[in-house]
Amino acid sequence: MKILTLNCGSSSIKFDVIETDVELIKQNKDVSIVRGIVEKIGLSDSIVQFKTDCGHSSKKVMDVPNHSAALKHIVDILTGDNPKILNGLSEIGGVGHRVVHGGEAFSKSVTIDKEVLKEVEACSDFAPLHNPQNLKGISVAKEFFPNIPHVAVFDTGFHYSIPDYAYMYPLPYELYTKHKIRRYGFHGTSHRYVSAKAIEYLKIEESKSRIVTLHLGNGCSASAIKGGKSIDTSMGHTPLEGLMMGTRTGDIDPAVVIHIMNKEKLTAAEVDSLLNKKSGFLGVSGLSSDLREIEDAIEAGHVRATLAMNICCYRLKKYIGSYTAALGGIDALVFTGGIGENSWIVRELTTNGLEFLGIKIEESKNKKNNGVLGKMKSEISDISSDDAKIKTLVVPTNEELIIARDTALCIRGLL
Ligand code: ADP
Repeated sequence: MKILTLNCGSSSIKFDVIETDVELIKQNKDVSIVRGIVEKIGLSDSIVQFKTDCGHSSKKVMDVPNHSAALKHIVDILTGDNPKILNGLSEIGGVGHRVVHGGEAFSKSVTIDKEVLKEVEACSDFAPLHNPQNLKGISVAKEFFPNIPHVAVFDTGFHYSIPDYAYMYPLPYELYTKHKIRRYGFHGTSHRYVSAKAIEYLKIEESKSRIVTLHLGNGCSASAIKGGKSIDTSMGHTPLEGLMMGTRTGDIDPAVVIHIMNKEKLTAAEVDSLLNKKSGFLGVSGLSSDLREIEDAIEAGHVRATLAMNICCYRLKKYIGSYTAALGGIDALVFTGGIGENSWIVRELTTNGLEFLGIKIEESKNKKNNGVLGKMKSEISDISSDDAKIKTLVVPTNEELIIARDTALCIRGLL
C-alpha cells in the first residue's frame, strides 16, 4: 500500500510517499515514490520542491501562507499529471506522522484517535516547539484525508527501552512523580533505522549486537543500542542535552545557567534562547550553525571555527567511550545525519585515537564523498581500515521509511 509520511515543523512540511507492506518490508523492497518539502511556510518566498524515483524533480518559489496551503500543494503534486505520481488520492492507504514527544505514554507507534491526540497535546509541555506543530500537521492532514488511518510515530518511542537508572536524573524523586522529569531521548526513528541497517549489513546476530549510533544533523544525538534496543541516549528531557549541536550547547554544568542569568540579567526565556539558539557551533565560532560554513572557515584559518570543531569532536569521542562502557563493548560505530553522512572531517577527528577500542578508519574510504542526502536510494559505506576490529559505518538515515513501515503495520494490526 502507499503511505504518505508527513513531518510537520513550524515553517516546513517534509513529505514522502512510500510503497510498503508486510511482504515488502520482509524483503526490504519497499520504495519511496516521491519525496519533497515545502519550506518557509508563511513567508512570501516559500519553496516547494520534490523529486520522484523516476528522476523528475521540481523546485518552485511561491507564496504558501499556511500549513493548509502547504498540504494543498503536496496533494496537487501527488495528483498532478506532470509527472503522474498517483491515479488519485484514494491510492493512499494511510498517513504516517512524525510526532516528536510521546512522553511515557507511547512505547510504539499508534493509530491516532481522540485519546492519542489528548496525550500528544499533554506532551506539548515537554516539546513546546515541536508537538504543537505535529498536532497542526495531523489536523490539516485529516481535512485532506478524512477516511484513512493516521498513525503517530514518535521520536521518543525507540528509547522507551532505556532502563530507569539511565533515564532518571539524580534530582529529588518527587520531580519525576510530579512532573515526569526524566530522560526521554529523541531521533528514535533514525537511531532505530541505522542500527537495524548496520546489523543487517554486518550480518551480526541482533540479540548479541552492541552498537553506538551518532545522528549528527542540526540536532545531534548519540545512542547505545544493545540487542537492537536503545539502552541510553544523549538527548534528555529535551533535545538540549548531550552532544554539541548547531545552535545548542549540549551538556554543560547546570550551575552555569544560574550564573549567566544573574550576571547577564537574563529571564528564563532569554537564557532558554541562549542555550538552544545561540550556542553550539554558532556560539563558539561566532560565524554559523551550518557545518559547511564552519569547514570553509577552518580551511581559511578561522581560529574559533577550529575550536568549535574540536569541542564537538572531543565530546563525540567521550560519548563513544562512555557508551562502549555502558554496552560492555562495541561491535559497530555508525555515523548518520547531514553531518555524519557528509563530513569526513568530523568522522576523522571523532574516531582519531580510538584505536584502543578497535575503532580505526581508512583515510581514503573516509574521504570519499559519501554524501547521499537527497538521493532516493542510499548505500551504506564501510569506512573502517582493513585491520580494524570494529566496523565504522556511514549509514544514510531514512526516518520516513520507518514512519511508513510502522504506519502500514499499524493499519494491518501488526504493531
Ligand atoms: P536536520 O537535523 O535539520 O535534519 P540535517 O541532517 O540535514 O539536519 O543536517 C544538517 C547539517 O549537515 C548542517 O550542519 C549542514 O552543514 C551539514 N551538512 C550537509 N551537507 C554537508 C557536507 N557536504 N559537508 C559537511 N556538512 C554538511
